Amino acid sequence: MSETTFPSQHAPAAPAPIPLREILPWAIFGGLMLLLALYFVGAEQGATSLVPGMYVHEFVHDGRHLLGFPCH
Ligand SMILES: [Zn+2]
Repeated sequence: MSETTFPSQHAPAAPAPIPLREILPWAIFGGLMLLLALYFVGAEQGATSLVPGMYVHEFVHDGRHLLGFPCH
């Protein structure tokens, strides 16, 4: 007969919590990137356009419709 033994019967160590002061800059950075993406998808058109022409609008056009922004 064979008997399987596991090396440790202890519970796995709990992951160390990430301090707020370490995650806050990344949270702000991620929030700014999301706002930038929201601008390009939702408002980069017409009077609020920063990039001349329709290139950005056409590039994110399907995203506009997916997220329900008014388009055409
Ligand atoms: Zn459209």
